[in-house]
Amino acid sequence: MAADAAEDVTPSKHRPSMASGENRVAVIGGGYAGLAAAVELAAKRVPVTIFEAAKQLGGRARRVVHRGMALDNGCHILVGGYHETLKLLERVSPVQAGDSPSLMRLGLELYVPGKFHLRAPRLPAPLHSLAGLLGAKGLPMSEKLLAIRFMRTMKGAGFRLAADEPVASLLARHGQTGAVARFLWAPLCLATLNTPPPSASAQIFLNVLRDSLYRARGASDLLLPRVDLSRLFPDPAAKFLARQGAIVRLGATVDAILVDGDRLLVDSGGVPTRFSRVVCATPPNRAATLLAAMPGLETVATKLNRLQFQPIYSVYLQYPEPVRLPRPMTGMTGGLGQWAFDRGALCGQPGLVGVVISGPGAHESMGRDAIAESIAGELATILPGLPAPRWHWVIAEKRATIASTVGLERPASETAVPGLYLAGDYTDPDYPSTLEAAVRSGVKCARLILERGIGR
Ligand SMILES: Cc1cc2nc3c(=O)[nH]c(=O)nc-3n(C[C@H](O)[C@H](O)[C@H](O)COP(=O)(O)OP(=O)(O)OC[C@H]3O[C@@H](n4cnc5c(N)ncnc54)[C@H](O)[C@@H]3O)c2cc1C
Repeated sequence: MAADAAEDVTPSKHRPSMASGENRVAVIGGGYAGLAAAVELAAKRVPVTIFEAAKQLGGRARRVVHRGMALDNGCHILVGGYHETLKLLERVSPVQAGDSPSLMRLGLELYVPGKFHLRAPRLPAPLHSLAGLLGAKGLPMSEKLLAIRFMRTMKGAGFRLAADEPVASLLARHGQTGAVARFLWAPLCLATLNTPPPSASAQIFLNVLRDSLYRARGASDLLLPRVDLSRLFPDPAAKFLARQGAIVRLGATVDAILVDGDRLLVDSGGVPTRFSRVVCATPPNRAATLLAAMPGLETVATKLNRLQFQPIYSVYLQYPEPVRLPRPMTGMTGGLGQWAFDRGALCGQPGLVGVVISGPGAHESMGRDAIAESIAGELATILPGLPAPRWHWVIAEKRATIASTVGLERPASETAVPGLYLAGDYTDPDYPSTLEAAVRSGVKCARLILERGIGR
């Protein structure tokens, strides 16, 4: 990473470290949103400094090391419809997008052993998903036909609802109950919105269905990381930024943003630095704290403080090396686990299984060992004769995403303070809290800055 000469020489908080004539952008937060903004700006030769509070980049999608193994803070699924994310991966590391060393591209397949199997054939969209529904195992024909009618009705309405409502009530109104709700819609809702159907926003769910199932066949492809999440994007992004001359400051928490005439001061560790533009790309609760202290932004800070969060737990279990799951991503049902990832097939870590538990549930009041024991039992029903795992590790991300609830109000990218922008997975007007929402938000802030000009 580039040396951080401009900032660290500032002797006192009364002497901002940058000449006011210099036009530099500060990005606060080095998750996917902040990195996306920084990469877009740096690619256009705009000088950028990233302030990241943690010792590593990546935020909520990063490598964690356990027993010397590179794991992730949570197994992530990308889909072919993540256009901005894929473009960004391509920009920082041209061989990454598509079926590559970094991502395994699989046609849409939802497989819950012994219960449900939907596989989309290679047909143009939306025929592939409708044919997949028609051929699905585990659904009675009456439910398949109702599901196809539901999809066609939603398409006819342009995937727009006159008024938002819970996913559960939309599904019930359209007869989407029984196995189709249990094995298809509820798992899709939890996997994409990380919010249970009774409280999840049907409009946000329909936005996802529109983009993944109706736009193009490849949009519904599953893209599963073959490398840890830091190697997927933050590491190549940091190299790209260094090549473009950007500055990345790790372990640099921003404590305040202050307006200083026509500039903004970013205060980290008691050292204020002057910038012409600032992108605040922290999670919403941290952004709320920074914004609450700024005149004119109290209302948006209050709105951010109203956002609710949802947890995601990740359970890693190490089995003997020959153990394999039926699919790289296998569905689970009837217990705590929702999706199991075969890290041997995906990341060359034989015998290692990662299981995701999205959203709230009984596991939140259980101990880590009890959660792992329950998951091991659930896996044993998929793989009879499975031995006990050699070790397990449970990661609880209690604020994994915001809750995509009915009528969710999100802040705009531009704020009332000239030159101050908000990025982050919670700001996208259309999408749930995902990597794609984060990347879109960062790219959008960069484009707004480029359009309006970097100087004053
Ligand atoms: C376990 C888990 C599983 C997930 N699974 C999926 C999935 O399968 N598919 C998917 O698309 N999405 C998934 N997500 C969601 C996805 O990871 C997030 O939407 C995305 O990473 C958010 O990126 P972001 O840049 O908006 O925020 P963050 O990643 O939170 O980045 C914000 C950064 O700001 C830094 N920061 C905070 N305060 C300050 C400060 N004051 N000064 C400086 N820096 C600061 C933080 O350290 C952090 O690095 C998952 C998330 C989790 C946690």
